[in-house]
Amino acid sequence: MIGSGPNGLAAAIVLAQAGLRVTVFEAEPTVGGGSRSAELTLPGFVHDLCSAVHATALASPFFRTLPLAQYGLEFIHPPLEVAHPFDDGSAAIVERSVERTAALLGRDDESYARIFGGLQRSWPNLESSVLGPLRWPQHPLAMAAFGMRALRSIAAHGLVPLDKALTAGFGLVLGVMAHMVGWVIPRGGAQKLTDALVAHLRALGGEVIANHRVTSLDELPRARAVLCDLSPRPFLKIAGARLPASYRRSLERYRYGMGVFKVDWALDGPIPWKAAECGRASTVHLGGTLAELELSEQQAWSGTAPDRPFVLLTQPTLFDPSRAPAGKHTVWTYCHVPGGSTVDMLPRIEAQIERFAPGFRDRILARSVMSPAGIEGHNANYVGGDIGAGIADVPQFFTRPTWRMYSTPVSGLYLCSAATPPGVGVHGMCGYFAAQRALADIHA
Ligand SMILES: Cc1cc2nc3c(=O)[nH]c(=O)nc-3n(C[C@H](O)[C@H](O)[C@H](O)COP(=O)(O)OP(=O)(O)OC[C@H]3O[C@@H](n4cnc5c(N)ncnc54)[C@H](O)[C@@H]3O)c2cc1C
Repeated sequence: MIGSGPNGLAAAIVLAQAGLRVTVFEAEPTVGGGSRSAELTLPGFVHDLCSAVHATALASPFFRTLPLAQYGLEFIHPPLEVAHPFDDGSAAIVERSVERTAALLGRDDESYARIFGGLQRSWPNLESSVLGPLRWPQHPLAMAAFGMRALRSIAAHGLVPLDKALTAGFGLVLGVMAHMVGWVIPRGGAQKLTDALVAHLRALGGEVIANHRVTSLDELPRARAVLCDLSPRPFLKIAGARLPASYRRSLERYRYGMGVFKVDWALDGPIPWKAAECGRASTVHLGGTLAELELSEQQAWSGTAPDRPFVLLTQPTLFDPSRAPAGKHTVWTYCHVPGGSTVDMLPRIEAQIERFAPGFRDRILARSVMSPAGIEGHNANYVGGDIGAGIADVPQFFTRPTWRMYSTPVSGLYLCSAATPPGVGVHGMCGYFAAQRALADIHA
């Protein structure tokens, strides 16, 4: 195995469960890729380096089968799933209950309840299609209904502009997860999920070697299968010489998209939100009106750093005091920027928070800033700061990174990162399906 992100560890566990001897090589000194935590600002303040909200981990059909609670993994449910404040001091909120959320949204309640209530009821039938590779759905009618809605555009988590097809798919999946499982946070931070996966892998006899960057496939010990938790660009660096020219060219054509600019703070008190509801949600979306949100995502997509960025914010210590000294807090944010952008977004992100929480700046004890280059610097998969490991638009969503998905033309060599289906998020399902593919080949 190359890479210890959630997909790499999931793949390693599947192979170890099948009785194979598994070794995971990880380039960074700490294990976990996009699911890690560290004291980025001050001693005693634990920040998530990448993933913060773990609805997909809790909803993951594979992680659900693992005894991760035995290894100390615990998810915290904040009172509200997400809040979205406005300039007048009010806020839209999403609660676990579809009905209560719909009622609070007022005018649009019927359509909200119809869409999310329907999705919630059909989720058991949809799950394997939404969190799996392209194949004939087990429940074609439920999937067709979801597909019609997913192809519409609306949601700003998808790292594509809001008017592009499929952005609604992200919104619908994340939205239904808020109602099905909740936008949970792991007690102690994202690293706790990784630690539990590693502990389980070790209990199955697997081995994880950190601080070992693989620079060429030739340096690996002989193995029946090599699975790479890599997106195409870093994969080409270590495997390019072994790949047939046509496959290499397909991977070279793989497109990366918007980057992210990330800021974490240590605060000496909670964020002083104008809208009280924001203090009851671990996730807060800052962007004002839909028109503002649309403009900011369109600008980032078309090469301009937005003046008023759409900021995703989490405030985990409100619900998990273990992550900071008593009475102190951590805050995690990022905004979308053009891939590889070098614009310093710190003042613009802080201005967006201050807009909805006057006095925020006065509470800052320390900051950690990560540009798109910094994001790529600590994880080679996120080229240009693209945390989705490649654009998830229609041509690159269903069959990523090529129509072969997990397989490559080289026997025994596989891809298992978020650049394969079902894509971005901490769920391990890319790793699970890649390992199933490898096992099928081994036993063929
Ligand atoms: C800022 C940010 C915020 C995010 N927020 C969320 C969120 O809130 N919720 C969510 O579900 N998801 C979130 N994500 C996305 C999520 O983290 C990823 O989708 C997920 O981690 C992908 O897992 P993976 O196993 O495919 O790859 P990764 O987690 O990227 O792991 C790949 C691993 O391979 C290693 N590696 C690379 N090259 C080599 C080499 N040559 N040799 C050895 N090892 C190598 C890397 O160091 C890394 O550890 C976020 C990501 C970022 C960066």
